[in-house]
Amino acid sequence: MQNKEKTQYTLIILKPDALVKSLTGNILTRLSEARLRIIAAKIVKVSREIAEKHYAHLKEKPFFNDLYEYFSGKTYGPDYERVLVMVYEGDDAITKVRKIAGATNPLEADPITIRGAYGRINKKGIMENVIHCSDSDESAENEVKMWFKPDDIIENIYPTKVETIRDYKIRTWA
Ligand code: UDP
Ligand code: MG
Repeated sequence: MQNKEKTQYTLIILKPDALVKSLTGNILTRLSEARLRIIAAKIVKVSREIAEKHYAHLKEKPFFNDLYEYFSGKTYGPDYERVLVMVYEGDDAITKVRKIAGATNPLEADPITIRGAYGRINKKGIMENVIHCSDSDESAENEVKMWFKPDDIIENIYPTKVETIRDYKIRTWA
């Protein structure tokens, strides 16, 4: 069977260390080489609640608290308690971005990848690897829906429904 590219959506987060190291422009430039389109973006202060949802697969790990300190930016102080969250769309977006990002462990990542070039392991053993990117269609959908409301995204990428709450109509995920 011929390898056919398929449109994918991926959630990308520039973690607090990317902001601390002033890497935003650099990383966006590297990502732009994949010829994808940004369809949503915002700066978020990471709550414990969303961190536990986003990293649900690591919530029971003994290092989760240290991971939260890093992911929320608390490690770096109030000026850096934020992340840049984006949704990218395009052919094989998930695969392409994972490749540009590199392996999870920055010490094992190819040095020309984002994580290989800019990541480190901190004193508590947490892999500060600068960028998050979804690893499958399923996790992308899950992550996009936890970080964004339908109206935050300029395209209709997943089904929505309209709910009536008292006099207000808001759009939520169907
Ligand atoms: N992480 C860590 N130590 C570990 C596993 C994970 O510090 O042993 C951190 C690291 O920052 C990683 C994030 O938790 O990026 C999420 O882990 P996951 O296994 O989902 O890797 P990713 O999808 O980010 O490559
Ligand atoms: Mg992951």
